[in-house]
Amino acid sequence: MLKAVTRCLWSNPVAGRRMMSHLISPNLSGRVAIVTASTDGIGLAAAEALGQRGAHVVVSSRRQANVDKAVSLLRSKNIKVIGTTCNVGKAEDRDKLINLTIEQCGGVDILVSNAAVNPFFGNILESTEEVWDKILGVNVKASFLLTKQVVPHMEKRGGGSVVIVSSVAGYQPMQGLGPYSVSKTALLGLTKALAPDLAHSNIRINCVAPGIIKTRFSAATWAARRCRWCDCLPVLRRSLIHHRRDYHCNRRHELQTVRGVAQRQ
Ligand code: NAP
Repeated sequence: MLKAVTRCLWSNPVAGRRMMSHLISPNLSGRVAIVTASTDGIGLAAAEALGQRGAHVVVSSRRQANVDKAVSLLRSKNIKVIGTTCNVGKAEDRDKLINLTIEQCGGVDILVSNAAVNPFFGNILESTEEVWDKILGVNVKASFLLTKQVVPHMEKRGGGSVVIVSSVAGYQPMQGLGPYSVSKTALLGLTKALAPDLAHSNIRINCVAPGIIKTRFSAATWAARRCRWCDCLPVLRRSLIHHRRDYHCNRRHELQTVRGVAQRQ
């Protein structure tokens, strides 16, 4: 590890300093962190992790009842937290989230852009303009617009950190989840496109691409009668398919389950 830090300091002094400061002090007390879609799953876990390191956390999602539940859960763990409803796809909700954060926490240092929707499952050629508008609007455009909104506030505090939640589907499109996968690929591009400009303001931007995590969002993967993670990795699945006589029967059942979940969102 020491070797890596030394190498990094030598080749890239800014990144090296950041690496060192992370190793020396992961303490986030005095920092303010907004995490979108943070009343469940990965967002809630991120909010908790940031809060446990001392950050003042702002949680949000579309439903007030979910916000209330998340706030009381985090407070029961002694985390400093406030919450509000925010559908990231709505401009007025994004404004409300940022304004509340500034008013009640005095600024913002960290943004975790985690919200995503997937209202479609099926052959990509059957996806409609409405589906694309919704997926790109919530998953991609809102991530950009929220980042744009927090930048001036981070600049006032001398810098900050943005984390965008993509997916393994951004690297390898998942079967039946074409538009969603494309939106996650776009987030990889968005991160790269923003990085040089944000660096001028000492704002770091990173993109994380989780694999399959057991949450409500990925329920279809787990709800299937015989859940196989490789169903989401077509390349690997193709190599296994020859060895499985019952594949088609099980796959049909799983597709029906996945479709049911996608349509409910
Ligand atoms: P989850 O457990 O189902 O939680 C979804 C959260 O998003 C809930 O708090 C929900 O609360 C909120 N939400 C939904 N639509 C929203 C919107 N338009 N605006 C604001 N909040 C919204 O989901 P998850 O699995 O943690 O997924 C979180 C992120 O990880 C997503 O970007 C997803 O693409 C990504 N991801 C997940 C997996 C996985 O396997 N789970 C894998 C790779 C990437 P309300 O209903 O109250 O709005």
